[in-house]
Amino acid sequence: MTTTTGTAAKTSGAEALAAARLHQDDIVRFLRDLIAIPAESGKERARCHRVKDEYDRLGLDETWFDGLGTVVARVGNGPLKVLMDGHIDCVGIGDPASWAFDPFEGKLEDGKVFGRGAVDELPAIACMAYGAKLLKERGVPPELTVYLSASVLEEDLDGHCLLHLIGKEGLRPDAVVLGEPTGLDVYRGHRGRMEMTITTRGVAAHGAHAQRGVNALYKAAPIILDVERLNGTLRTDPFLGKGSIIVSYVDVKTPSMCAVPDRATIYLDRRLTAGETIETALAEVKALPHLGDAEVAVRSYEGTAWTGKKVEQEAYYPTWVLPEEHPLVRGTVQAVEAVLGRKPKVSRWHFSTNGVASMGRLGIPSIGFAPGLEELSHSTDEWVAVDDLVKATAVYSLLPETLAVLASELKAKG
Ligand SMILES: [Zn+2]
Repeated sequence: MTTTTGTAAKTSGAEALAAARLHQDDIVRFLRDLIAIPAESGKERARCHRVKDEYDRLGLDETWFDGLGTVVARVGNGPLKVLMDGHIDCVGIGDPASWAFDPFEGKLEDGKVFGRGAVDELPAIACMAYGAKLLKERGVPPELTVYLSASVLEEDLDGHCLLHLIGKEGLRPDAVVLGEPTGLDVYRGHRGRMEMTITTRGVAAHGAHAQRGVNALYKAAPIILDVERLNGTLRTDPFLGKGSIIVSYVDVKTPSMCAVPDRATIYLDRRLTAGETIETALAEVKALPHLGDAEVAVRSYEGTAWTGKKVEQEAYYPTWVLPEEHPLVRGTVQAVEAVLGRKPKVSRWHFSTNGVASMGRLGIPSIGFAPGLEELSHSTDEWVAVDDLVKATAVYSLLPETLAVLASELKAKG
């Protein structure tokens, strides 16, 4: 295998930016087309076909759908495999009246593209596609294979699409680049999360004979207060922030509104910071002082991909952090700095991404870079700057070259 450690990428940031600028109108048109095709999780069929058509039109080496319907493309055929992932599904729009513009128009105004998915995260799909095209035109370094995935189901089941593509369909990347919004900075991790339930059981009885029953909700009440106290004791990590636990919902089963309920289920949302895992989080809940004989469980998610394939997974999405000194961080910062002419901030997301699978579960070094501001995700004011689309495309075209220079280090660390 060829190694060229220590050499700079052969394309300059200014060249990459100039080449991307020539495709500004194409990138904007593609993004606006994607926004105009609604695609909530499990209903991405039409948008996936639109993406595959664009990949094919751009002349990428190979394109296909995986079993869940994720659109995959490849350029190059070298030993270092880099996967650039953008999820294709979006959340719904909520109350249409709450939008000041049509969320599916792909409105273009004042140098910005507006609409559902204009941040989270259709820009990555549009920019990665054109980045791969530009890379192919210049010549993919012989060290490299670059894969693109426009992946499904992320908003319902973060990471599952990559567990499938990597774990079940055998695509084996050495590094993953995630297209969740970073405001053109470089993000290297985020808190994990999990969903749990606590179920208390009682004995149903007529309300007129309540003394004959055992009220499951009364058993749940002190446990709910235990959860609130537990939240106050959870650890804080200087990079990722604090772990947290909240009661998000309580469901009660009762024979009637005039009876003693015999079952109560407390739903818990748990955010996991550094060092917290499914095991530590379960152990804390099982040690709640008023738990008694209540049952603790991790929830599981079931859904159906647009291909008809059923998916099921426990609702646990592990915390992950790529060390700051990792060559993938260094290579990404280099590529971004070359294009933007400034050192990007190296930070982390507040929300969860497909990195819970690639790095959290599978241990594959993962990093984030994309245009758009994370805090606009899922809001009625989702927009991205056209100029940032061009810059991101330039970075996506240059990043593989930067990583090729670090190929031997990345292979050694992988
Ligand atoms: Zn997202």
